[in-house]
Amino acid sequence: MIIRFAILPLFLALHLSMCKKQESVSPSSQQANASATPAVASTPVVAASPKITKPVVDQTAQVIIFCYHRLVDKIRYPGTEITPAAFEAQMKELKDRGITVISMQDLLAWKRGEKNIPPRSAVVTFDDGWKSQYEVAWPIMKKYGYPFTMFIYTEGVRGGSLGGGEAITWEQLADMRDNGVDIEGHSATHQDLREGHTITLIAGGKRSRTKVTGPQYEQWMQNEVVGSKQLLEQRLGIKVNCFAVPFGNYNEHVKEIARNSGYEAMFTVYGQPITFTSSMDSIGRYAIEANKPKVFEDAVKMIATSTGGGAAVAEVGAKDLATQPADGETVRTALPLIKANLSAVGQIEPGSVQMRVSGLGVVPANYDPKSGTVSYQVTQKLHEKSCGVIISAKSQGKKVEAHWTFGIEEGAAGGASPVPPPKK
Ligand SMILES: [Zn+2]
Repeated sequence: MIIRFAILPLFLALHLSMCKKQESVSPSSQQANASATPAVASTPVVAASPKITKPVVDQTAQVIIFCYHRLVDKIRYPGTEITPAAFEAQMKELKDRGITVISMQDLLAWKRGEKNIPPRSAVVTFDDGWKSQYEVAWPIMKKYGYPFTMFIYTEGVRGGSLGGGEAITWEQLADMRDNGVDIEGHSATHQDLREGHTITLIAGGKRSRTKVTGPQYEQWMQNEVVGSKQLLEQRLGIKVNCFAVPFGNYNEHVKEIARNSGYEAMFTVYGQPITFTSSMDSIGRYAIEANKPKVFEDAVKMIATSTGGGAAVAEVGAKDLATQPADGETVRTALPLIKANLSAVGQIEPGSVQMRVSGLGVVPANYDPKSGTVSYQVTQKLHEKSCGVIISAKSQGKKVEAHWTFGIEEGAAGGASPVPPPKK
C-alpha cells in the first residue's frame, strides 16, 4: 500500500573573467538506515523510535546558482564586478520573489536524496577570493541571513604568488569559516585546466609561458586539483567537496581527475536551473556581470514563472514515514499508539499538523518539531477491525497529506487491554 503525499508542485554563466589580483599572469581574462523499525508487529504499545528509510525529497524543486566576483563602487571590469547597491538589490529581489537562498551543502544533500529543499531555491557563490567579498558582500549576506560559498584558488590568497592587495587573507577566510561560510576549491593558479593550453608556470618567482603535456601536465594538474584542495583543507581544517573549474573550461579528463580527487560536485559558469537529475560534474552557475543585469533577471524568471502547475504527487512507501502501526499491519490492541515521522517531508509548520483517526475524528495528537514525530495514544477503544489514519500538515505553504490503514485483531477490538509482546 502506498502513502500519497500531495506535495504541491513546483517547477521549473560565466566566470571567466580575469581574476587579476596581480597583473602579469593569467590569460585573458550531496540516510537514515533502512531498518525502518519493522513495525513492531505484535507490540503496538512499545514504540521503537521511528527511523526514516529514505527522506522524501521534492524532486521537482529547482535551484539557480549565482556566481559573483568583486564588489566595487566604481565599475572598471564589468565582467567581474558589481556595485554593492546592485548586489544588495539582487539579494533583496530573491527574497521578494520568494526564492529561498540555501547553502551549497543543502543543495548537495538534496541531490543525494538526503534532505528536502524549498521548491524554488538559489545558491550564492563568490569566486576567486577578493577582500571585497569579505568586507562588502559578507555584511550584506548577513543582513539577509543568507548562507553562501567561497570558491578559492590558493595562489590567489594574499601572500600567494597571485595574491595582491585586493586578495582575501587566510585570516579572513578563517573568520568566514568560523561563521559558517562554505569554502570550496577553485584550483591553485586559476588557469585553463585542459591539456595542451598554454599556461603560466611559476617557479621560484619566475614565470614562464608554456604548453605542458603528458606526464608534466598530469603532475601540474595534481597540484591544481588535488594540491589546492589539500592546502585549503589543511590550512582551514575543512572538508572541500566542490570544485569550480577556472573559466568554466573543462573536458572529460579534467572532470575525471576532479572526481578521483574526492570532489563531489563540479561547477561551471553556464547558468541553468539545476534539477534533481542534473549531472553533478558540470553544474551551471549564472555569472553576474555589472553590464548584463538581464542575466540575473532571466535566471530568476526561469524558476519564478514556473509556478507549480500540475500537482506533483510523490508516492512513498509507508515505511518512509515510519508509521506505527505500519500500513497494513494488524495490532492486538484497540488502544494503539499511533505515530508517524514527518521529518522526511521537509520543513513542517508546527501548528499545522493534524491527525484524524477513523471512528474518532480529529484527535489531539502531539507533534514534536525536533524529531518530526506526530503521535497520539488512543484513549477510547477503537471498535472497527480496520482503522484509517490521515495526517495532514503544511510544508512551505503547501498542504501535505498521508493516509494509511491498520487492522485490529479480532477480540481486541473494543475489548482486551494490550497484550505484552511474546518473549523471544
Ligand atoms: Zn575564478
